Amino acid sequence: MPEGDALHRAARRLQVLVGQELQVETPHPRAAVKQLAPRLDGRRLESVEAIGKNLLLRFEGGLVLRSHLRMKGRWRVLGRESPVFGTPWLVLRGERHAGVLWNGPVLEIDRGVALRLGPDILAEPPAYDAMLERLRRAPQDRAVGDALLDQRLVAGIGNVWKVESLWAERVSPWRALGDVSDDDLRAVLSAANRLMRARLDGTPERRQVYRRKGHSCPRCGTPIESWPQGDDARMAYWCPQCQRGEAPATA
Ligand SMILES: [Zn+2]
Repeated sequence: MPEGDALHRAARRLQVLVGQELQVETPHPRAAVKQLAPRLDGRRLESVEAIGKNLLLRFEGGLVLRSHLRMKGRWRVLGRESPVFGTPWLVLRGERHAGVLWNGPVLEIDRGVALRLGPDILAEPPAYDAMLERLRRAPQDRAVGDALLDQRLVAGIGNVWKVESLWAERVSPWRALGDVSDDDLRAVLSAANRLMRARLDGTPERRQVYRRKGHSCPRCGTPIESWPQGDDARMAYWCPQCQRGEAPATA
């Protein structure tokens, strides 16, 4: 699944199209029915940014195209005249390059999305105060591991980096938000930022606990546990020894 950092890489590559009037095509029938091409063709692309798991392309006239990659979506930047394989959802042709999106299940013109999403964990600098404020406005009996994946509270943290940053700061994913201090929440957010930025910059750190159920915790040797968490049942991994606090009610 594309995580926030994959979106940021795509946003970086697509910068070559910013400032240009684009030729817009939607070859895939499911994209064509959305009538995006007639509304966007010939408009100047003003900016491309990744916010959480959304790629927002702002066009002149205040139109914002939102692309969410879900499981299979993929953006590539090709030469303007390069052959395009398959049936992409969207082709944006600039003067010398073309941005191409395949399998873009979520592709829509949306003015409100940026307001509904929480602050981006990969913003420079990240708005930790605003994230903390949102986390404190959420129900405080909610498990911290579940809250970190809620894109309305903090945008961009996927399951892998949720797991790794909680382990890095010794916070159990099952602790209630209300039982985690502001300092600990900030430490976890900043660990997520550090780990995700390292991956974005091409110097990823080794995963310590993600998908390592039954392996020894690299810090204390206790076997790693796992259990599904939250409404989406994303798998949490944690060390029951050095991430103390709670265990899942059903484990
Ligand atoms: Zn441990």
